Amino acid sequence: MIVEPGRSTEFWELGPALAPGDPFSFVCAGCGDCCRKRRDLVLSGYDLYRIARRLRLSPRIVATAFCKSYIAPQSCLPALCLTPDPKTGNCRFFEGSACAIHEARPLACALYPLGQSIDPITARTEYHAQLPLCGACAGDRTLQDYLEDSAILDRAGIDARWAVVCTQISKQLLDAGGAAHPHFMTAVRRIERALYWDYDLGDEFYPQFQQNTADLMPLLARILSA
Ligand code: SF4
Ligand code: SF4
Repeated sequence: MIVEPGRSTEFWELGPALAPGDPFSFVCAGCGDCCRKRRDLVLSGYDLYRIARRLRLSPRIVATAFCKSYIAPQSCLPALCLTPDPKTGNCRFFEGSACAIHEARPLACALYPLGQSIDPITARTEYHAQLPLCGACAGDRTLQDYLEDSAILDRAGIDARWAVVCTQISKQLLDAGGAAHPHFMTAVRRIERALYWDYDLGDEFYPQFQQNTADLMPLLARILSA
């Protein structure tokens, strides 16, 4: 599973994988370009939960108001992305020159200008810098410093588990024929609930995710074997 940084208006590519101790002295210059006219921002269930908690709205209401839902063509999984402001084309949470939900911003935003890839079997996570790098360089800092400062390491375990579980669910769907299965949409609706909707914002995300997906797997097997 790959999270790309995704500036839309410039040519960019991802550099080689960085090790935790590698130099990475990037400092954000606050220009806001990563919030303007960017490609769709894909949200994980944890991203949605965090935004919902920040806005004090249910995950379903946040998704209805700010997101587009679709079926990801390769995985056949239900997916969500933030839709841009129709007037400006910028992210809807970009206010003035700052992010209105900064502490709850999605993983792709917290990572920026890094991309992340997670091996769906081993959960090994790699980070790649977007080239050319935006912002400025300052100090004698490492990738590990950046990941700690951006609070990415605080959520890395959840993000890795999300990638592994989504891969397992996708395999179950694809092995059953994917969108051609007669009960595909029933399965999709049940997966959406487990991954995105059925979360009490008063409780932590991860135990609910574990329970939801543990309940989902046998149910999915029954739906897809019918
Ligand atoms: S969520 Fe915040 S950081 Fe991410 S694109 Fe929108 S305004 Fe920018
Ligand atoms: S991360 Fe880069 S593009 Fe985004 S505000 Fe900072 S310097 Fe600008």
